[in-house]
Amino acid sequence: MSGPGESDRFGIAPALLQWWDVNGRKDLPWQQDVTPYRVWVSEIMLQQTQVATVVGYFDRFMQAFPRLVDLADAETDHVLHQWSGLGYYARARNLHRSAGIVRDTMGGELPADIDQLVSLPGIGRSTAGAILSLALNQRQPILDGNVKRVLARIFAIEGWPGSSRVAKLFWDHAERCTPDQRVAHYTQAIMDLGASVCTRSKPQCCQCPMSGACAAERLGIVGDLPTRRPRRERPKRAAVLGLMVRPDGTILLEKRAGFGIWGGLWGLPEIDCIDAIPDWCAHHVGVAAKSIQSQATVLHRFTHFDLEIQPVTVRLDKDPERMMDGDQWLWYNIRQPARVGIAAPVSRLITEFGESVWDEK
Ligand code: SF4
Repeated sequence: MSGPGESDRFGIAPALLQWWDVNGRKDLPWQQDVTPYRVWVSEIMLQQTQVATVVGYFDRFMQAFPRLVDLADAETDHVLHQWSGLGYYARARNLHRSAGIVRDTMGGELPADIDQLVSLPGIGRSTAGAILSLALNQRQPILDGNVKRVLARIFAIEGWPGSSRVAKLFWDHAERCTPDQRVAHYTQAIMDLGASVCTRSKPQCCQCPMSGACAAERLGIVGDLPTRRPRRERPKRAAVLGLMVRPDGTILLEKRAGFGIWGGLWGLPEIDCIDAIPDWCAHHVGVAAKSIQSQATVLHRFTHFDLEIQPVTVRLDKDPERMMDGDQWLWYNIRQPARVGIAAPVSRLITEFGESVWDEK
C-alpha cells in the first residue's frame, strides 16, 4: 500500500472530509453503535438496495438478530423471513452461512483481517474493506458502485470496471486516495458523494468539492463514465406457477431447493405447463381441480435473466387426500400467515389472490 504522501497526491481525502463534515449523512442506523457485525449486515443489504429501503429492514433484522451469534443460531427460514422483500436472497443465505462459520471457527467475532474476511461466503474485497474501515478505522480501500463512479470521473478512467484490467486500475486509484487518518469518515464521505452529488444521472458538479480537480468535468465526459457494460441480450425464461387453493381458502406452498432462484424460500408449485395441471393434482394432492383459471402474466427481472411468470389459480374440488404437510409443503393461510420467507413476486400473487377473494364476498 502506498504511503501517506502519495495517498494525498490528489488532495482528494482532505477535500472530501471537509465536505463530509458539513454535508455527510451521520444519522443512519448502522452509523450508531458501530460494530463490524452491524456494518457487515448494512453493507450486504445496501449492495442491491436503496438506503431508504434498507433502513427499515436493518432495524428489524437487528431486533431479530442483535448479535452475530443470534444470526448464526437462527433457523434459515427465520433469516429468510426477515429478508423477505429485499430480493437477491443469496445475500441472506451467505450472511447466515458466514455467521455459522464465524461462530464455529473464528470465536464468534468477525475477524479484523482482510484475508480472513474475504474467505467468508458473500464477502468480497470491497465489503471487507468497508467493514474494516468503517468499523475499525483500518486503512482499507473500498470500491462499491458509488465509489467506482466517483473515481471513474475524477480520474477519467475509461473501460468497463467489470474487466480485470480496468478493475485493477480502479483498485490502484482507490488505494492511493485512501488516507491514513479518519479512514472511516473518508470511506463514508466518498460513498455519500457518489450517492448524493456525483450521481449516475444529473451529477451536481457545481456543488462538488472535487469540481475543478475532476478530469471528467474538465474533459466534458462526465455522462460517459463509468463506461457501461457491453450490451448483450438478456435471456428470458418462463414458469407456470400454480395457486392451489383448498376449499377453506388456504394455498399450497412448496419449499424450494436451497440454491438457484429463490433458493430456500417458500414458493408456489412450478408446473410444466397448464395442460399438465390435472395430472399434477391427481399425482400430488389426490383430488381433482374444480376450476383452472389463468391469470395475467407477470415479468420479473433477475440480474441475469427475465422470468415470465404465468400464474394459474386452481381451486381444488375437496380437501386433498394427501395433505402434504411437513418440511416440503405448507398450506398457507392468508389471514394468519406463517412466518416464512417468500419471494416478493410470489408474495404479491398471494396478496392479489387474497384481495380478489375478498372482492368476491
Ligand atoms: S465534479 Fe462532477 S463528475 Fe467530478 S466528481 Fe464532482 S460531481 Fe462527479
